[in-house]
Amino acid sequence: MVQNLTILGSTGSIGVSTLDVIRQHPRRYQVVALCAHSQLDRLFDQCLEFRPRYAVVKNAVLASELRMRLQAAECPTSVESGPDALVRMAGLPEVDTVMAAIVGAAGLPPTLAAAVAGKKILLANKEALVMAGPVFMRAVREYGATLLPIDSEHNAIFQSLPQDYAGDLCKSGVQNLLLTASGGPFRNTPLEALENVSPEQACAHPNWVMGRKISVDSATMMNKGLEMIEAHWLFNVPAEKIQVVVHPQSVVHSLVQYVDGSVIAELGNPDMRTPIAHALAYPERIPSGVDPLDLFKVASLHFERPDFDRFPCLQLAYRALKEGNSSPATLNAANEIAVQAFFDGRIGFTAISRVIALVMDRAPATKLVSLTDVLAADAEARRIAESVIEQANNR
Ligand code: NAD
Ligand code: MG
Repeated sequence: MVQNLTILGSTGSIGVSTLDVIRQHPRRYQVVALCAHSQLDRLFDQCLEFRPRYAVVKNAVLASELRMRLQAAECPTSVESGPDALVRMAGLPEVDTVMAAIVGAAGLPPTLAAAVAGKKILLANKEALVMAGPVFMRAVREYGATLLPIDSEHNAIFQSLPQDYAGDLCKSGVQNLLLTASGGPFRNTPLEALENVSPEQACAHPNWVMGRKISVDSATMMNKGLEMIEAHWLFNVPAEKIQVVVHPQSVVHSLVQYVDGSVIAELGNPDMRTPIAHALAYPERIPSGVDPLDLFKVASLHFERPDFDRFPCLQLAYRALKEGNSSPATLNAANEIAVQAFFDGRIGFTAISRVIALVMDRAPATKLVSLTDVLAADAEARRIAESVIEQANNR
């Protein structure tokens, strides 16, 4: 049976890798909607190749430009724009599967809409789950959606847990989850040099080619903090059962430690097409285009403890999960604002964690019951983060 897909964030790193896997299996997958933001040229090329029924862009101006170009190229794709269109695309009745690959909080409304529509969700957009954990997971359960992790670590854990795992570690004989982290580009940089690193240096990840925001998150290790919270929600595991393990080669994508001493891991080359193909075809297996792992070339695997002094963002994520309620949403929003400020040259690299800590001190703790609550906590944290950055710059 053909699987019909909506791809949220089709022009990004994950979106492009997803289309590359789909391109190899034209009889299995049909693209119904491609959703992007402002990268018109890339979206135009994707429309010509995959002939989706719909394409979505940021606003009406870009939509009319894309519409004209597609008409001239005799491509029948109909073009829509704005956040409401994203939500509509995620819930289209003819769509079976939604790839959630928008970066940041902007991905929450459409990803949640996919859950409410009971879709199969391939979740790359970790920020959506981090900020809205209880609301999102309740929607998945209530509306019978299927949630499959794309994040390589969570996909590895999913593959290493028993097939019938239903959120009970004890019952499955699981002792711990071991979440691997590369340590990013600054694992060995002298601490005093971190103050002055540039966005380009922060984005130069040693193993993975990714979007700019997640690259900076990897450099601060906030990415691992967000992933720890993501693992908590996906697998119903308390923070103390999730051990972060720094593993610079990124070959072991994460592990599950069992009470009998067994440790089961998923290994592979660092290429997101593996988890994407796994989740697209699950429970079957399909080729992804990724080269087979050559263990002789890898030769050795290295592991070390995370350094919380070097990476204070990791500690902040543990704090957010412990505080619960709106704290993870606050953490995520403050991080998004701080990372953007770093890109804009308004703050230095090491100020990212300081801004987030101040916002967490100041933001009120609120209960998250609905999407409205989540978006309110997100907006409040963004407001506080902007004022913290403003104050720091006026000092
Ligand atoms: P990216 O920056 O390369 O792409 C982001 C995509 O989101 C683009 O298509 C962009 O058009 C779209 N987008 C951005 N803002 C938007 C908005 N306001 N409205 C609608 N669309 C918007 O990012 P990426 O690296 O592909 O990451 C996407 C998500 O996947 C992130 O949540 C990231 O943490 C997660 N992820 C990425 C990787 C990776 O290897 N790249 C690995 C694991 C998880
Ligand atoms: Mg990851």
